Amino acid sequence: MLENPLENYFKLTLRQKNILHKLGLKTVKDLLWHFPSRYEGFAGRKAIADLLANERASIHARVIKIEAKKLFRKKINIAIATVSDGTGSLQITWFNQAYLANKLKPDTDYTFTGTVKRGKYGIGMQNPIFESGEIEIPQDSGTLVPIYPETRGLTSRWLRFALNRVWNNIPEENFDDHIPENILKKYNLPSLKTALREIHFPRGVKWAEAARKRFSFEEIFLIQLMRQSWRKSRDLHPSFSIKIPQTELDAFIKKLPFELTAAQKKAIEHIFENFDPKKGPAKPMSRLLEGDVGSGKTIVAMIASLVAINNGYQVAYMAPTEVLARQIFNEFIKFFGGIYPHTKNFGVGVKMGMATSSEFLKFPSKAFAGQATHIARAPLLRWLASGEIQLLIGTHALIAEKIKFKDLALVIIDEQHRFGINQRLKLIQKNGGSASWRIPHLLSMTATPIPRTLALTIYGDLDLTLLDEMPAGRKKIITEIVSPQKRNEAYEHIRAEIKSGRQAYVICPRIETPEENEASLLQLSMRAVKDEYKKLSAEIFPEFKVGMLHGQMNPKEKEKIMKEFHEGGINILVATSVIEVGINVPNATVIIIEGAERFGLAQLHQLRGRVMRSTHQPFCFLFTESNTAKTKERLQALVEAKSGFELAEYDLKFRGAGELTGSKQWGISDVGMEALKNIKMVEAAREEAKKIIESDTLHQYPELSRRITVQSQLIHFE
Ligand code: ADP
Ligand code: MG
Repeated sequence: MLENPLENYFKLTLRQKNILHKLGLKTVKDLLWHFPSRYEGFAGRKAIADLLANERASIHARVIKIEAKKLFRKKINIAIATVSDGTGSLQITWFNQAYLANKLKPDTDYTFTGTVKRGKYGIGMQNPIFESGEIEIPQDSGTLVPIYPETRGLTSRWLRFALNRVWNNIPEENFDDHIPENILKKYNLPSLKTALREIHFPRGVKWAEAARKRFSFEEIFLIQLMRQSWRKSRDLHPSFSIKIPQTELDAFIKKLPFELTAAQKKAIEHIFENFDPKKGPAKPMSRLLEGDVGSGKTIVAMIASLVAINNGYQVAYMAPTEVLARQIFNEFIKFFGGIYPHTKNFGVGVKMGMATSSEFLKFPSKAFAGQATHIARAPLLRWLASGEIQLLIGTHALIAEKIKFKDLALVIIDEQHRFGINQRLKLIQKNGGSASWRIPHLLSMTATPIPRTLALTIYGDLDLTLLDEMPAGRKKIITEIVSPQKRNEAYEHIRAEIKSGRQAYVICPRIETPEENEASLLQLSMRAVKDEYKKLSAEIFPEFKVGMLHGQMNPKEKEKIMKEFHEGGINILVATSVIEVGINVPNATVIIIEGAERFGLAQLHQLRGRVMRSTHQPFCFLFTESNTAKTKERLQALVEAKSGFELAEYDLKFRGAGELTGSKQWGISDVGMEALKNIKMVEAAREEAKKIIESDTLHQYPELSRRITVQSQLIHFE
């Protein structure tokens, strides 16, 4: 029954069908698993004449008049109604739900529940919930009414009606639980049937909460099971044994222009333990190197690469943007191109390639000493397959099917939160022919400050190494929230910094994942960069060289601008958030973020990380036109937070993980996200999943193993 389409049970209009499909509600099962986002209590019933301001109440009243209006100044569509119950009348306003003007009929009775407000025109209610006719409401205490995520054209009322209709007809066997019973008992979680019933028709707050808790546990538990079972199947494969050339390495490290931090040394040790285990054959490393922006992850990756190459193997290094791939390529060239004098046979003369969707480069080139040259794709592919190219750097272009290595022993993924799991899996299957029986070591790197609970969940199959220490001599960034009136003061400050030799970024907002009209919104934000560029170069900083960088420029233009900025030729770089990840120009110490309220906290932190890369005092100016308390509070968190991790915990606590970087990206539902506020629950789910996988008892739970198989197939073969 659960797999039956909803059409079998309801007469649906075409419009309703479309809306349901858009929400992914096709079957009875989808309907049951579409959870309320919150509950409202039907408050005690009152007569209009007895209502008090600010109390929550239900009234039973007749619609006298109802119409749709547009508030021009605020650009909001509203529905506005006058209702009366014989003791008095009341004005009701629904914001952004103008369609209700057609839905509620004049001369018809409804029960309205909401908070009473006193306005200019007497008392009123805003956005009350309503039921048609008179409903039984006890005088004081109320029932809980589930409110579903709002979608135009699909009301909570309809969903409640639909659920009511199907619920009693569902045969018992559809409620077979896939969470093992002992686990439910141990953590005091309701059975599937009880949980489904209580989430949609709660007997009370406690019941509704217990139901939600069960579903969030379930989601995390399933993710953990999947991650743990991957881990186990990967561990069965052999990997590359990589010997550590200690003497050469020590000499190399000694010649670096800085001293490695203790955290960097520890991270390198961790990697080496996987490369050359004391006991047994090498198993594929799966390590996540997590360190705040500017903590020095790249050098750790470089050293690991060098060691693998020194053993005669190949390395692949994937970064999320062309600009970043190019920068890393250049940094490697510096390393291997004789800028730092190396010990013989170590690092010198490494042959490298770079691949993005539009460019292929090779280093060193025969024609130009010490430089890279453009090559065609075909020879690059050949050289990779023959092992001639030892290190390949690039964007997601690296996972293209044609790219095959001879002996790929190490895969590095920079800013790994920007890639999907699928891309990660593809990149470790790049050994062609006879080498494919070995799985390369994987080093993922990220600065995304995500809370520990989220990390434990989504990276459940990875070992975690933290770079929890900044290189010596870094100063704490000074972050200031700048109101429009203070703009000029901030510009003067920046002028002084640039005069003393520093460089600056100016970031203009780009609206995140626009749903409709993508093109025009993008163009809007492009215009913002271009306008800002004009204004800054012509009016505000005519004495400085101002440059511009955005996603619509071609790779050559981007490379030219970045090179000029790296070399100090450009003083101020006006950019979109394309520079958000990874860009490393240590002399840039000032960043202005326009429209700061439009960025998520994690993104703002990434952005300001661009200027925390040297021993100069860094500054971050958050320009905002918004004056709301919410904006102020959020930005203030950024001013005060000492690290990205602190910020992430703040974000999770105060506004749910959704805001972190868009919860959609993690593939976790809202209910699952609730679990992440509870470290105990996450740890419990992880422990239980581990027990099942390690003891090889998944097959004892057929429903569970079916779910896991289905989900992992989705990920492998999509
Ligand atoms: P991220 O962790 O954000 O990727 P990077 O690896 O780009 O940071 O390093 C940021 C800057 O810090 C670079 O200019 C790098 O050369 C420098 N750096 C890295 N490690 C150290 C260190 N131990 N001491 C001083 N500077 C360092
Ligand atoms: Mg980096």
